[in-house]
Amino acid sequence: MKFADLHVHTNYSDSTFTPEEVVAAARDKGLAAVAICDHDCVDGIQPCREFASRSNIDIEIIPGVELTAEKDDAEIHMLGYFMDWTDERFQETLLSIRNSRLERMYEMLRLLKAHNIDIDPRDVFKLARDKGSVGRLHLARAMLNSRKVNTLEEVFNKYIGFGKPCYVPHTHFDPKKAIELILGVGGAPVLAHPYTLDRDDLIKDFAAEGLRGIEVYHSDHNASISRRYEKIAKEHGLIATGGSDCHGLGKENAQLGRVKIPYSVVEELKKISKAR
Ligand code: AMP
Ligand code: FE
Ligand code: FE
Ligand code: ZN
Repeated sequence: MKFADLHVHTNYSDSTFTPEEVVAAARDKGLAAVAICDHDCVDGIQPCREFASRSNIDIEIIPGVELTAEKDDAEIHMLGYFMDWTDERFQETLLSIRNSRLERMYEMLRLLKAHNIDIDPRDVFKLARDKGSVGRLHLARAMLNSRKVNTLEEVFNKYIGFGKPCYVPHTHFDPKKAIELILGVGGAPVLAHPYTLDRDDLIKDFAAEGLRGIEVYHSDHNASISRRYEKIAKEHGLIATGGSDCHGLGKENAQLGRVKIPYSVVEELKKISKAR
């Protein structure tokens, strides 16, 4: 059987792994395919492909993305697969989203300072790539490096988790827009980690707007949670996808290949994106 991990980050967003490390880890896990789904960024896809081909590693690099959207104060992560990621307007849109992350980061740093946690912006930005996607996991790592906080849980639960005192929302982007953006470049929109979102009521509307799948299998989903989303996927005619959501060494419980999806799911995603 061939397997794929359909949700993996690189250091073009908030993983500690370079594209080379991602491809090498996927090879070590014996995967046939890995989907590169960086936050608001597709620039890691080509480096992964180049490294795989240069090193004669026979792994399919699936083009993906994870868009950050918002609705009714909920943060929604929308994955896209097999879109035409080379589309110039699509790339410009993503770049402008990433630029708005810079001001947001300064705002979070200001709020942290008011809570007696003074972090030099350079200590955050040096953990991110130039023109890559800077986010809270970079900030969390800088906070841990400063030794002003002790654990990742403390960082998110006390300071920068969604709705906590030093959290700053992203520039508003409607999930319907995210779905349209992915469909517009021929991709298949898939809702990421619905359990984290915890708004099952929204899935029906997303399906009507063009959603094609949901992440049923994920490092944060146990067996009973996956069963719940298997059922919801069936109900709405959505493809049951999944992945580890590996962030390199940034998240211990989400090692690359921890979630393995049968290759037939990749073929289904391919089929519906080609159909456009
Ligand atoms: P951002 O894109 O800046 O909003 O950051 C979102 C990222 O922060 C997620 O993709 C995770 O990598 C990380 N994150 C969010 N909440 C938590 C949490 N409670 N614990 C660990 N990492 C988290
Ligand atoms: Fe992340
Ligand atoms: Fe996510
Ligand atoms: Zn992710």
